[in-house]
Amino acid sequence: MSSPSLSSSTVRPSRALSSIRGSAIRDLLRVTERPDVLSMAGGLPATDLIPSDRIAEAASRVISEASALQYTVSAGVRPLREVVADRDGTHPERVLITHGSQQALFLSAQALLDPGDTVIVDDPVYVGALQVFQSVRAEIVALPITAEGTDVDRLERLLSDGVRPRIVHTVSNFHNPAGVTASARTRRRLAELAADHGFWIIEDDPYGQLRFAGRSMDPIPGDRVIRLGSASKILAPALRVGWLQASPDVVELVELLRQGADLCGSTFAQLMTADLLGDSDFMTAHVSDLRREYARRAAALTGALRTDLGAVCGVEFIEPEGGMFCWLRLPGLDTAILLDHAVRAGVAFVPGAAFAVDAGLGDRLRLSFATLSPDQLTEAVRRLATAVHDLGRG
Ligand code: PMP
Repeated sequence: MSSPSLSSSTVRPSRALSSIRGSAIRDLLRVTERPDVLSMAGGLPATDLIPSDRIAEAASRVISEASALQYTVSAGVRPLREVVADRDGTHPERVLITHGSQQALFLSAQALLDPGDTVIVDDPVYVGALQVFQSVRAEIVALPITAEGTDVDRLERLLSDGVRPRIVHTVSNFHNPAGVTASARTRRRLAELAADHGFWIIEDDPYGQLRFAGRSMDPIPGDRVIRLGSASKILAPALRVGWLQASPDVVELVELLRQGADLCGSTFAQLMTADLLGDSDFMTAHVSDLRREYARRAAALTGALRTDLGAVCGVEFIEPEGGMFCWLRLPGLDTAILLDHAVRAGVAFVPGAAFAVDAGLGDRLRLSFATLSPDQLTEAVRRLATAVHDLGRG
């Protein structure tokens, strides 16, 4: 699947760029921005839940410091490194602040991979990670995801067959798009295999705080883990603040690379984020509001899926316990074809094929429950059921 913008260009792209797959999701979002379409396609957090008043307060407090509008060090402002380290029980030297966790992913890949190095990803994959690994011309090996997260048994078989990955990428909590969370066994086994075989685990975790049911899991243990976090889903994506936590030698490498990438992040945004994340009373209340509202939205979605969609076709899904996504299987249906009917019926989703590496996933689709209200979600599923009905009639 090549990017339309590249194929129509007369500029010869670098080899690295020509191996990047375009994001079908980004293209799709253009179609679904029509006001008459109820979109469950986006990967955005709820705009109505962004704490804009408290963010404005942080902005006005921070701007009174002269240094807020200056360059800062490449590793990020000290107060934010401290707040992140404190929350996660680590040392500020093990934390580097990035321009969203996407940049942390990009810099980690650039710092650790040479062209041809093997990277293991899940299938379906977080497309932003696939693009990063393709951009450094890594050899991608995809393992079909399981209900317990990354398939550690298959990984073990690959390792005993002589495959030598440099990185294993995993979204440990509420996977995008598959919704699953890595079990305690998956986490322990990943850490053991990384220690035995000397690969790095990138634990990509922007959704862990958004748990509204079930029990929280400890992060993946061990010193072979590069852990990525983000302010995007708990505060606001426009802050463009994320971070990586890793051993100080990895942090140092990434810091060096970062100097060439963009010198440093936004001092202003980082100081604001430190003000917000450092206010634990505010954060506790705000994150609990987010969880409560996402729980309400997820319940409206899954309730409607069982009744309205279940009445017209088979539907399989795992009940979300957090995050923003519900990953569906509609046995016997091609969801890429269904999407045309769906947009005509006024609803949008992302077909499973957009996240597939090797697996077909043609009967899967990703629904986001984050941005629509419970009533809108109920209506969106009603429209989806109409689209399925239309598709069945040819
Ligand atoms: N990792 C995953 C799994 C994501 O879903 C996203 C964004 N949707 C990111 C990383 C990047 O987020 P950000 O750069 O806003 O922190």
